[in-house]
Amino acid sequence: MASNIYATKCPCCGRSAIEDYYYKTGEQYTYCMRCGYNYSKTIEKCTTECLEYKEEKNDGNGVVVLEKKDGSRKKILLDSAVTDEQLENDKTSFLADNIDQNKSYLVLFRDGVFTVLLGNPPEKFYLSFEEYKEKMFAKYGVPDYDFMVPIEE
Ligand SMILES: [Zn+2]
Repeated sequence: MASNIYATKCPCCGRSAIEDYYYKTGEQYTYCMRCGYNYSKTIEKCTTECLEYKEEKNDGNGVVVLEKKDGSRKKILLDSAVTDEQLENDKTSFLADNIDQNKSYLVLFRDGVFTVLLGNPPEKFYLSFEEYKEKMFAKYGVPDYDFMVPIEE
């Protein structure tokens, strides 16, 4: 698939989100591993005259990242439908024996406020998109197309 993937400013929390843009079809996926925001624009119908797109958007309510001791990871974006019961389940999963608690985290995002419930989000988790972008350009150099901000957790 022909796509460009890069970091972009999250419209929900202002930190760095990930954008995956398919330049041949105009389809786009944006998701934020900080607050859980996600957006997709996909082709609904394709005729010779026009393309019709379908858009879906969910404001973020937080993220759950569980890294197992074998290195495999599970990432969950929490949307507004997240229930207390689901959160309790996620907390239980976090504390399981096969999970590396030092590399896992459970963060809520509500009313513009981040709350770390469990674990340790990475250092860049806390940066605004502008601060993040500055760090990435300092580390990798400014790309030819300056919207192509590298992605790092
Ligand atoms: Zn966000």
